[in-house]
Amino acid sequence: MAGNDFSGEQQEYLKGFMAGVEARRGSLAPAGGGQGGGAPPDAMRAAQDAAIAKGGKLTPEEKAKRDKHPLDRWDEVVARAEQGKFPHGVDNLLTRWHGLFYVGPTQDAFMCRLRIPGGFLSTHQLRGIAAIAEECGGGWTDVTTRNNLQIRMIPSAKGPEVIERLGDLGIIPKGTGADNIRNITCNPTSGIDPGELIDARPIVRALHHHILNTRDLFGLPRKFNISLDGGGRVAVLEDTNDIAFTAVKVGGEALFRLGLGGITGHRDFARGTDAVVPPGDVVKVCDAILRVFLANGDRTDRRKARLKYVLDAWGLPRFLEAVEAQLGAKLRRAEDATPAAPPLKHGHIGVHDQKQPGLQYIGVVLPVARITAERMRGLADVADRFGSGAIRLTVWQNLLISDVPRERMPEAQAAVAALGLGWEASHVRGGLVACTGNAGCKFAASDTKRHAAELADYLDARITVTKPINIHLTGCHNSCAQHYIGDIGLIGAKVERGEDEEVEGYDLHVGGGAGVERRIARLVRPKVAHDELNPMVLNLLRAWQEEAPELSFQDFT
Ligand code: SF4
Repeated sequence: MAGNDFSGEQQEYLKGFMAGVEARRGSLAPAGGGQGGGAPPDAMRAAQDAAIAKGGKLTPEEKAKRDKHPLDRWDEVVARAEQGKFPHGVDNLLTRWHGLFYVGPTQDAFMCRLRIPGGFLSTHQLRGIAAIAEECGGGWTDVTTRNNLQIRMIPSAKGPEVIERLGDLGIIPKGTGADNIRNITCNPTSGIDPGELIDARPIVRALHHHILNTRDLFGLPRKFNISLDGGGRVAVLEDTNDIAFTAVKVGGEALFRLGLGGITGHRDFARGTDAVVPPGDVVKVCDAILRVFLANGDRTDRRKARLKYVLDAWGLPRFLEAVEAQLGAKLRRAEDATPAAPPLKHGHIGVHDQKQPGLQYIGVVLPVARITAERMRGLADVADRFGSGAIRLTVWQNLLISDVPRERMPEAQAAVAALGLGWEASHVRGGLVACTGNAGCKFAASDTKRHAAELADYLDARITVTKPINIHLTGCHNSCAQHYIGDIGLIGAKVERGEDEEVEGYDLHVGGGAGVERRIARLVRPKVAHDELNPMVLNLLRAWQEEAPELSFQDFT
């Protein structure tokens, strides 16, 4: 399939567009128009009024949101940038509604978190992002655990320009931080995976635009994550999200099983419900869930303001009743359903056949999830020359290039290798996930990305691990790298050494997993100094391989 096959691309687009129309049409009542009375004109203010009426005291963040809606503060963002200033305190939080994060004192700069629904990018967009990163930022992007990219080292004066130029590319980073719905994630192999039950792309696109165009949904009590797993080789970790859709078969019909309240940083996976949602109803069901949360989430204590805490207080049956009242329709229920085949562990790297005969995709490994502008342009060239011009970001902090004819894959591999990148990794390196760490995030106790790279080098030089494992390093309790679902999960910790020395280190957890391996990792050694960590992990892996190589690492630990 040639990259410049315009009519083919256009047909694909039209197909996707029509599927999006179907996704919006659905079979349930109109969004927000149910028996619950629908959302009032300003749902956030109504929820705050209700909290005050109950004798609650709004948090300073809620008060600031109430004083002036953060989406109405763009002119302030521009004016501050023109003065060469960064926002601080609550202003820093409010600026995140526009996708800009001041990340001082670690970096005296903005970070911009993009919004790339499902992680699907065109090569035109990737080249444009490379130019923005080079001309307005540090010259690279980081792939995040939400099929997304971040640009760092943006001077204050360049902040608005980054947002405007992203807009020119069709990338609108509204609400990518703070109390908003984050980038929607789904399988990066959607539409090409032989094992998928539902192609999630049109649903993700429709949901993305519904969120962007619904002002009420920028008034949540706290952040909110949504993920759709349509089935297939690459895990999307949907059960770590506030709303988790997992494709199942009921009779002969492919539907999404609804899960709610995943937040692994608080040691909770999404709770399975008996509700199943037709693909065409996903947007409406999400809207109803969001509105129930919006009206009932805690506005007085940010530590308790996530969906999980509404579910803890109400229980699932009451919450689902409220969702049905909001929808004005009953959710479909089905106890028995057949799940899709489980994903391949480390299915996000390597060369794999697509469901389209003769086509393959290649999962490219990105060391510490960072791509220089030069490599972004190089990868875009590979996708144009050998594929269809499609780039697919994964939640595993790497990317796929799809639609490469099998006979041209060796050339594509050579072109990837010429960029200094590969598509194979050891069973240690293939599942290595690290958050930004203290090189770019003020909350981090340790330099996670550097330590991840050092740990992989150390282990690969000393042991050949025979089964894929996942190692997650996260810098603080925000758990951006989801340490509780790693086979080995590390969370940054300051470790005392001697009387007045403090060194970087980690709390060491083992045995976590998601999906069919769903389990919260358990703490086995708190406060391991960084220079003692690598041998300790090596010993753990050696013990597993010597004592019980037939078991998975999770079962061994
Ligand atoms: Fe920063 Fe903590 Fe997220 Fe790491 S987990 S990027 S340290 S907020």
